[in-house]
Amino acid sequence: MDSLSVFLVLVCPFLILGFLAQMWVRSSFARWSRVGLSRGVTGAEAARQLLREAGVTDVKIQQARGSALSDHYDPRDKTLRLSPAVYSGTSIASAAVAAHEAGHAIQHDQGYAPLALRNAAVPLAISADKIVGGLVLIGFLLMMMGMKIPLLFLAAGIIYSVAVAFSLITLPVEFNASGRALAALTDSGIIVSEERSGVRAVLNAAASTYVVAALMSIAHMLFYLALARE
Ligand SMILES: [Zn+2]
Repeated sequence: MDSLSVFLVLVCPFLILGFLAQMWVRSSFARWSRVGLSRGVTGAEAARQLLREAGVTDVKIQQARGSALSDHYDPRDKTLRLSPAVYSGTSIASAAVAAHEAGHAIQHDQGYAPLALRNAAVPLAISADKIVGGLVLIGFLLMMMGMKIPLLFLAAGIIYSVAVAFSLITLPVEFNASGRALAALTDSGIIVSEERSGVRAVLNAAASTYVVAALMSIAHMLFYLALARE
């Protein structure tokens, strides 16, 4: 197989899956944004309450200027940054996202090991990504000039395993934050039992993007290794 066929077989399906997962997240968020919580709690209030109930008192909650679905917890300055729709929204979707991000802050506070490992691996994963990008670019340029240097792609595949490990360690971190979110929202009385399925739908859609990203990183690694065999 030539490199284009290998790409089409190995990587392309995951590019499409990734696109579908993003669409699923957006449509799920939009759908459940239109369903108001019976208790009328905003995302910011929900996050504050969940943090307080978990005994976390040193985390700031800010409304970020970022676009929709840019919500995140930043462990460096212990700040939860929520997009405007989540921060002041009182919907099932805003509660789900705010509680998920609060879940990350609680993981951080409790020293949840997979999160610590993931945070420590961030700079390593970014460097690996850059090095691999450079190696693959050089590899393809040489290929276009009629030179094949399989070792370049072998090195890229091996170094890319760091990015694969990073995307895999992200999975328990994300699933755990969502599990905490659903349980804590219920226990705290922010949502009633009929609202659980909507929260779960939003969280599942978000989780799918991480699963696809992990599969995609494995596909990329196999792609580089396949090029090394040519
Ligand atoms: Zn998350």
